[in-house]
Parts: sequence; C-alpha cells; structure tokens
Amino acid sequence: MKDKLIQFMMGRYGTDTLNKHILYTVLVLIVLNLLLNNRMLYFLSYALIAVDLFRTFSKNVTARSAENAKYEEFMRPVFDQVKVMQKNFSDKDHKYFVCKNCHKMVRVPKGKGNIEVTCPRCGHHFDARS
Ligand SMILES: [Zn+2]
Repeated sequence: MKDKLIQFMMGRYGTDTLNKHILYTVLVLIVLNLLLNNRMLYFLSYALIAVDLFRTFSKNVTARSAENAKYEEFMRPVFDQVKVMQKNFSDKDHKYFVCKNCHKMVRVPKGKGNIEVTCPRCGHHFDARS
C-alpha cells in the first residue's frame, strides 16, 4: 500500500506554503460555516479543497512552484511581520525589525529610545524606537 502511494505521488507536486494556507483557510471557513450555516461558505470551502487537491496531485511542478513563489512574495510583508512578532515576544533583551529594502531581520538592543538602524546586509538606514 505504501509503495503504491509513493509510486502514485512520484512526479507530482505535493504540498507547499500555498497549499497549507489554503487548508488553514478551509478550516476557518468550516468553523465559520458551523456558526453561520452559510451555503456560500460551504461551496467556497469545497472549491478551495478542490484547488488544494489539484495543486497537490498536479504533475506540472514548474507551474505550481511559480504559483507558490508568487504567493510567498505577495505574502512576504505578513510573514516578515509574524517572524518579528515571534522574535520580539521570545527575546526580551532585543527588539527586531525587518529592513524594508532587503527584508533582512535586524536586531537592536532594547531600551535605547529613538535610534537610527543600519541594515547589515544592504546598508539601508531607517529610524526605529527600541
Ligand atoms: Zn537591508
């Protein structure tokens, strides 16, 4: 059985960030639908599941990878902000920022007031409050 599944998935795309986020969205829609009992949410969740299955079993790996890359580029500000929030929550001695020029995460000591931060990767300057 396992060998058949491996053979079936050979050459197929599998899962990626976009597929995972589609499934999270489906879960949210299912919960919302339980509360609201809305037919549109029901059909939308099934449509998203169909898109997710299509992408997972697609043999056009190049196209699926390109879609995922576009999605990740589009969502990059959100992903960066989530990473910064996680870092700021776990590290009490430093404050984290994302360089708007090159998206590198920059760490500065906390409690220094208004400071000018220089990105170590690209040299971009920006004002911040630590
Ligand atoms: Zn930079």
